[in-house]
Amino acid sequence: MRATTVRSRVLAAMLLLCAFGLLIAGLTAYGLERSKVDARIDDSLVRSVTSLRDLASSGLDPETGQPFTTASSLVYTAIQRTIPSPNEGMIGYAQGHVRWYAPEAVALRLEEDEAFVEHLSTLQASGSALLQGFTSETTEYRFAAVPVTVGPDETGTFVIAYDRSAELAALSGTFRTYAVVAVIALVLIGLVGWLLAGRFLAPIRRLRDTAQQISESDLSTRIPVQGNDDLSDLTRTFNDMVERLERSFVSQRQLLDDVGHELRTPLTIIGGHLEVMDRHDPVDVIATREIALDEISRMSRLVDDLMTLATADRPDFVRRDYVDLGRLTDDVLDKARALAPRNWVVDARAELPFPLDSQRITQAWLQLASNAVKYSADGSTIAVGSAVALDEARIWVRDDGIGIAPHDLGRIFGRFVRAGSGTPDRGGRGLGLAIVAAIAAAHNGSAEVESTEGAGSTFTVTLRRQPPDLGARLPLELSRPVHDNHLERHL
Ligand code: ADP
Repeated sequence: MRATTVRSRVLAAMLLLCAFGLLIAGLTAYGLERSKVDARIDDSLVRSVTSLRDLASSGLDPETGQPFTTASSLVYTAIQRTIPSPNEGMIGYAQGHVRWYAPEAVALRLEEDEAFVEHLSTLQASGSALLQGFTSETTEYRFAAVPVTVGPDETGTFVIAYDRSAELAALSGTFRTYAVVAVIALVLIGLVGWLLAGRFLAPIRRLRDTAQQISESDLSTRIPVQGNDDLSDLTRTFNDMVERLERSFVSQRQLLDDVGHELRTPLTIIGGHLEVMDRHDPVDVIATREIALDEISRMSRLVDDLMTLATADRPDFVRRDYVDLGRLTDDVLDKARALAPRNWVVDARAELPFPLDSQRITQAWLQLASNAVKYSADGSTIAVGSAVALDEARIWVRDDGIGIAPHDLGRIFGRFVRAGSGTPDRGGRGLGLAIVAAIAAAHNGSAEVESTEGAGSTFTVTLRRQPPDLGARLPLELSRPVHDNHLERHL
């Protein structure tokens, strides 16, 4: 079964909110209108009571032209003079019994509701005017009962009542219409919302479809970026991620390719020599054995270097400790001297300790020194040096060798890159500088070269202190030269 989509969830949430809003608005308006109706009913009832009191105190009996002499005539006159509104009815009591009914034109016949009449009779005894509600089987009333007394014995009651249910029914009608309109509005909001949500979420759908299309073999698809909002940011981030993945796959494939080529040469040499070797000729056997061992040690060095590079992005690739860089410079110089007879000198010695992995730094430094030896003449000068600034340290190797052509400078730190195709092969595997760059990157730094063809080169490794956030390192990929993905091989 398909999981609910974001689109339907967004829409459902939106509809729920809208429905909730409409309900709150409707209920509030209904409550307000209802209390307005009640207030209007009470106002009208109070006015009727007041005019009855006026009539009782200063009115004249229309039959005699004199003040009222009986309660019955007073109640009768009041009923005749009052013009009730459509849901209003009246009834008059004299001496405790129903005596007068409202004129026939009045629609609400109170006398027909026995329960109400019964209830009114029980109120006769009380002497002051009442404003009350009463619910009978048929409807709900709001009424005013005004007892009148004329002379010592003449008592009567004028009752005027509203059919509250009927008054509220008109209001209910209005709100039924409101409910219908609200439902229609919700349906419309749902339709438009569905379309809009689909439109807004289209980039996410495209993202999903593209992600489904992307496989290891085809990482070339990108999602077109539209607009400038958070979704387009997400699209851009996604595209960047695919870009990085693609680059990483390409460089992985390139690496396998290169490793294959690199191993094929020594294997071909060993295989070729073994094939033509004369087993019965001890001299040939010894010579072939020498060649095979030589090639095997070449392969094992290659494998060692590759292992070093493969572990370079692991967190435990370097273990930093405070090291006296001056002493380390001397140690490296001592070791380098054994490489070849050169005029070995120290350019500068840092006098401060710096946090670094002395074994890895020695490895990188000696790699640079052995390169300097490889690409310089006997007796030429090779200098090593170190310097510490506040947050970084530099170590370098300077030689007066053959130098590097400007177009090679940017790519020699790549794997299996050998520059200077015109110069004789000096047995390098093109991994030395890649390892130096990896060691530099593992120290949050970088490796650079300055060189003049024919005049010499200076290779500098810059090391930086660990940033406070536990020393998160840049991935090795990012520290390599741009050309890394398009390595050229010089065999
Ligand atoms: P290799 O094993 O071929 O020396 P490296 O990665 O150490 O591989 O060096 C890559 C290339 O950089 C070399 O092939 C060489 O052309 C160039 N290079 C490195 N160091 C020097 C140097 N000191 N002087 C001149 N060229 C150098």
